[in-house]
Amino acid sequence: MTTQQILTDAAYLIASVLFILGLRSLTKPETARRGMQLAAIGMVVAVAGTLMHHEIVSYGWVLVGLTLGTIIGWPLGTKVAMTAMPQRIAISHMFGALAATLVGVAEYYSHHLANQELPRAMMGALGFEVLFGALTVSGSFVAFGKLQELISGKPITFRGQNYVNLTLFAGALGLFGYLVYDPTQQWAFYALVGLSFVIGLSMVLPIGGADMPVVVSLLNSYAGLAASATGFAIGNNVLIICGALDGASGFLLSVLMSKAMNRSFANVLFGAFGAAPKGGAAALTTGEMKGISPEDAAATLAFARSVVVVPGYGLAVAQAQQLVREMAEQVEKRGGDVKYAIHPVAGRMPGHMNVLLAEANVPYEKMVEMEEINDQFATVDVAIVIGANDVVNPAAKRDPNSPIYGMPILNVDQARQIFVLKRGKGTGFAGIENALFFDEKTSLIFGDAKATLQKLVTEMKAL
Ligand code: NDP
Repeated sequence: MTTQQILTDAAYLIASVLFILGLRSLTKPETARRGMQLAAIGMVVAVAGTLMHHEIVSYGWVLVGLTLGTIIGWPLGTKVAMTAMPQRIAISHMFGALAATLVGVAEYYSHHLANQELPRAMMGALGFEVLFGALTVSGSFVAFGKLQELISGKPITFRGQNYVNLTLFAGALGLFGYLVYDPTQQWAFYALVGLSFVIGLSMVLPIGGADMPVVVSLLNSYAGLAASATGFAIGNNVLIICGALDGASGFLLSVLMSKAMNRSFANVLFGAFGAAPKGGAAALTTGEMKGISPEDAAATLAFARSVVVVPGYGLAVAQAQQLVREMAEQVEKRGGDVKYAIHPVAGRMPGHMNVLLAEANVPYEKMVEMEEINDQFATVDVAIVIGANDVVNPAAKRDPNSPIYGMPILNVDQARQIFVLKRGKGTGFAGIENALFFDEKTSLIFGDAKATLQKLVTEMKAL
């Protein structure tokens, strides 16, 4: 073993340990920032280790790639709004999977060019890499398009779609098996790449926009598996390890997100959620929505003993997190207690609300998970729902016809008084009415959450 190889392997080992420690730290909000830093340092060490590799032919091209990547990556990291994070992540996966696919094609092509025999095991790794890589590229691109509303969020499907998908997948597996049997069959290799692209499209187009975050997480897992296979194909240990970590964490996250919506994984992938709601969903929404002026709401809030803030996607849109904190301070100043109820799928990505509130320095111990806070709502004076809708929709408990029936929700309807801040009569992500807004204990304050909160805080300060 040369000194160069030893240094490269040592760098890969250190990077892998840093990735694992980083992931571990990401499990708690208090240590999440450190987790990201550890993982970023791990990535720098892994890149440095790779740059010492004997097969690097041109540092000039590496520099060009690094510069281009930085020019594209910097604004992606700093400028893209938090609310656009799911589509940002989808497009990143697309690039990652594209890299894995291109490496797979290049490896196959260079072996062919040099007239080298491709061992079957390596052909297996390459086949796996291009299969999962290519389907992730096209699948992530469709997911990005749906989330960015470049294409319709409605399921694009036809009768027998699932059978067609199964046939396509069986065809790809057939080609894969044939290639492992005879790696010299170039046509089969390129047909596998092409077919995998088609599978990505036919897999994601029939899934509704509402389920895209789960799909993105699953595609993340596929991109990880493709990267891991790349590691096997080109003999790179750190790729094998971090690809496996990515594959496993993406898969677990998809399962956990499906669970938080009380949907089976199969239902997300084959159930065409996001289509028009079934009849009967609006049956519970009788009566009138009742408004309240910010002045009256401010007076009630200011002297409440216990307040629970229920943040949702609209709070992220309004970017009103600082004002929420200021409002809470006004309650606390007068001896009231304020907690924040965190639903696992509030917002558009897991942990969205925790990150948003942490930005405004809301203490972590004030953010209470759904399971813990749900029993406390009955003793709460005021629950203030800010830009949340589906996660507080009682139809999930009461209406078996509702598309969100069975999804665990925050028991806001049990609070003594409920204020809801929203712009108008817009529905939430699932596109359905919400009986909570028609409840006699509920008063709505219409308007952008930031403007409304500003009014509330000003009024409370003046009291
Ligand atoms: P919803 O998307 O259900 O509702 C958001 C509400 O915010 C709308 O009713 C909207 O009403 C209001 N709103 C939007 N902008 C503003 C604004 N500027 N000021 C005030 N109000 C605003 O959000 P929830 O957080 O309740 O639910 C999340 C949904 O996303 C769930 O259906 C969940 O299943 C889904 N989802 C979440 C994932 C996650 O990981 N977090 C992943 C996949 C799906 P109006 O237009 O009238 O203002």
